[in-house]
Amino acid sequence: KSKKLRRQEFDNLSAPTMSSGAPRGNGQTVRLPRGASLSDFADRINANPGSLVQEMFTLGEMVTATQSCTDETLLLLGEHLGFDVQIVSPEDEDKELLARFNIDLDAEVDEETLVSRPPVVTVMGHVDHGKTKLLDAIRKTDQVAREAGGITQHIGAYQVHVEHEGEPRAITFIDTPGHEAFTAMRARGAQATDIVVLVVAADDGVMPQTVEALNHAKAADVPIVVAVNKIDKPEANPDKVRQQLTEYGLVAEEYGGDTMFVNVAAKPGIGIEDLLEGILLTADASLDLRAPIDGHAQGIAIEAHLDKGRGPVATVLVQKGMLRVGDSIVAGNAYGRVRAMLDENLTQVSEAGPARPVAVLGLTAVPGAGDTFLAADDDRTVRQIAEQRQARRRAAEQATMRGRATLETLLEKIKEGERTSLDLIIKGDVSGSVEALEDALVKLPIPEELQLRIIHRGVGAITENDVNLASASADATAIIIGFNVRPMQQARELADRNGVEIRYYTVIYQAIEEIEAALKGMLKPVYEEVELGTAEVREVFRSSKVGLIAGCIVRSGLIRRNAKARVIRDGAVVAESATVTSLKRFKDDATEVREGFECGLTLGGFGGLQVDDVIETYEMREKPRV
Ligand code: GDP
Repeated sequence: KSKKLRRQEFDNLSAPTMSSGAPRGNGQTVRLPRGASLSDFADRINANPGSLVQEMFTLGEMVTATQSCTDETLLLLGEHLGFDVQIVSPEDEDKELLARFNIDLDAEVDEETLVSRPPVVTVMGHVDHGKTKLLDAIRKTDQVAREAGGITQHIGAYQVHVEHEGEPRAITFIDTPGHEAFTAMRARGAQATDIVVLVVAADDGVMPQTVEALNHAKAADVPIVVAVNKIDKPEANPDKVRQQLTEYGLVAEEYGGDTMFVNVAAKPGIGIEDLLEGILLTADASLDLRAPIDGHAQGIAIEAHLDKGRGPVATVLVQKGMLRVGDSIVAGNAYGRVRAMLDENLTQVSEAGPARPVAVLGLTAVPGAGDTFLAADDDRTVRQIAEQRQARRRAAEQATMRGRATLETLLEKIKEGERTSLDLIIKGDVSGSVEALEDALVKLPIPEELQLRIIHRGVGAITENDVNLASASADATAIIIGFNVRPMQQARELADRNGVEIRYYTVIYQAIEEIEAALKGMLKPVYEEVELGTAEVREVFRSSKVGLIAGCIVRSGLIRRNAKARVIRDGAVVAESATVTSLKRFKDDATEVREGFECGLTLGGFGGLQVDDVIETYEMREKPRV
């Protein structure tokens, strides 16, 4: 509302003096990338950048020609000049970028080149319902790994091989349980998952995160197979789970629906093969799992980290084409040539086709989880794509930073001093968890007067740099969240010296819960008891009108009308939250009576006053928030 007002004021003000020479549009469309500058805008409409600077000035904002603008600024200026500004989303923009290199990710592929590929599965469900155990149990069933004597390592995803209806089949599992990672990937437009396995513990039934996971799967339009887990437990009630889930539209086949429910017990390893079969049956019934196996590989980075010896290691899931050692690839902002590829048994592989997860060595930087990757003709192409993406990200970041700053100043003007902000720095062991955490935190319901800012995030140990950044944060010192990482010694010392709090977590869910609680705590007023004074009861009268009246002498501090009171008799508290309902000095009403003076009072909430009782009065005062 305030912006409209401001605009009108400025329109009125500036109308007679307008002479910037900026062209007026007639509703023409101007496409601008997020974070574009006035120069970029001027380019598109054949204007002098200076004229747009001047226009912005008359609109009440100082913006330089090359500075990256917020969406709001671009839209405001567009509207003002009569252009229909369309801010191009990062995804569209990336498509345009790739098009310049003759790459079209959505290009139609020839039916004949398609081969069937394994389904990709994500395991979701409520905390403690057995997602991790289930992924472990499935991993152990793999014949191929067993024969090779290999032990499956955690690289972010793995494949198992089973015989299904006489055919050898494979299934790929994303090895990060939970819907945070799933949602984070989807938020970046990447869909890695074909099927969701929803784990529900048969002794606990449908829980809040079960429903959340289910909703995420539905939103992504991904079929669900329900693994009813922990059926080995005596209190397990797998039928109740089926019953409960019908309310959410998941009707078991045996009840006439079309969702597969499989009873399993991940810990003792019961029913795992049935579950794998259920996944394949569901895949075959409802999905067309085919992909081209020729051509440059395309896919998605699932997890990435910086390895001390090997440099950046990114686990990628190939979705189309064939990835080979020696290929030039770009994943998000990172590029490089594939030096080596490892499978989940840490065996070197030379090529990986659709639905095959492999850890790739040879990138120049650590990509983000959910970043798309693709192989291209040569090193130059991938480097240029990466560099252009980097430049774009920098511009977009600058725009958001500026956006925050102006939003803040605005709000500060509105309600001065009333805002509190919680600044966070997130460091984690892998980019997937950092992003999942950030994503979940940003989505927390936060009251208006509060702001949660993630001022930095990254992969790796907590460094002195992080601590410095935390103590340099604008309004308050930032808190550093270490997810599966610890600070280096010097960083720890620096944090101690500067009073920077570092909190460690190994479970995303817990981190989110605690931060949410902290946010609420920042708002809830904290009261503390402040003692006002004490009085001793000398006489007690009974009045037909007001009940018991106590004649007292104030022994310390003061007694105030309406103050809270407790009654102490022989050193023990006999009444807790009474109230001084009336207070008199001789015949007159008094608001307070000081130490050494006599007074008469009545207590609300306690009717049994006796001579020699001590009345202690106190107030609850709001403690200033720190
Ligand atoms: P997550 O939070 O969903 O990943 O759950 P976990 O896999 O960590 O399992 C939570 C707890 O349930 C652990 O103590 C497991 O040992 C236990 N658990 C998991 N599956 C089973 C099962 O099939 N039977 C029994 N009795 N316990 C299980």
